[in-house]
Amino acid sequence: MNTIYLKAYAKINLALDVLRRRPDGYHEVRMIMQSVRLHDRLHIAVTRTPGIRLRTNLDFLPTNENNLVYAAANLFFEQFPQSCGVNIQLDKRIPVSAGMAGGSTDAAATLFGLNRLFQTGLSLSNLQELGVKLGADIPYCLLRGTALSEGIGEILTPLPPAPPCHVLLVKPPVNISTRHVYEHLTLDETTRHPDIDGMIGAIRRGSLPDTAALLSNVLEAVTRREYPAIADIEDTMREFGALNALMSGSGPTVFGLFADRQKAEKAFYYFKTGPCGRQTFLTSFFQPAVCGTRQ
Ligand code: ATP
Repeated sequence: MNTIYLKAYAKINLALDVLRRRPDGYHEVRMIMQSVRLHDRLHIAVTRTPGIRLRTNLDFLPTNENNLVYAAANLFFEQFPQSCGVNIQLDKRIPVSAGMAGGSTDAAATLFGLNRLFQTGLSLSNLQELGVKLGADIPYCLLRGTALSEGIGEILTPLPPAPPCHVLLVKPPVNISTRHVYEHLTLDETTRHPDIDGMIGAIRRGSLPDTAALLSNVLEAVTRREYPAIADIEDTMREFGALNALMSGSGPTVFGLFADRQKAEKAFYYFKTGPCGRQTFLTSFFQPAVCGTRQ
């Protein structure tokens, strides 16, 4: 095998809690992660010439070590030196800087693909140990599906698949700095924390209404205040019949969960023909057939 095609799936946070800020500046989190079918595509080809050559369909993205795909390949070759190199083509569809772990999922797919191509025999946990050096979300992006994520994001507990539904994703045209959001988050006795354990119970019962009712993201305390567009999109999604809607990660993407396909499509066409049109997607949850295997 000297080429591999990979799908790198986006994630949303069904719930996101921040427990505390550690002395080293990292935040301890508790999150329910969920993969969605929206994905980037990667094609990796082994070449006789050593080195990493990356191309992407988005001309504003870096193609050097500042791209997480390049950084992941670099890390892999540092650990497992090879006499040959790789050409990588990255086709982005996941919006960039959107709160959907686009870069992390590409890095995870790159590590997975290189492990296959060069037959290095790394287990899922070996790959996760490598991946966490580049980003806290990468171990989850290697696992995928429904999972509880703790620590700085690297302690993962797979959960039963969240109940299937239609997922509307809308990214408003605002730039949010993840750093700014975390720096302006106040954690005190007035903070309303998501009911993560309640949501785990709802997922285990397979109840979509109960899961949707508990959607919650502690970072919205910052972003809803500063970016009213986020709350407006959530309200509109609910008016169209979403069971509930929430901002993913540190935003600005908003997702709405719909039980009813027709209502989801109506909302999709509404947003698709508006100012967020190019960054509007109708998708669904992605669950890997077996945890840690790729489709
Ligand atoms: P998260 O949800 O983990 O906070 P995000 O979806 O908000 O991630 P990304 O799209 O992963 O954000 O990446 C944002 C930044 O990372 C951009 O500044 C971009 O230039 C850089 N970047 C590096 N590699 C990639 C990649 N493969 N895809 C997208 N962005 C990348």
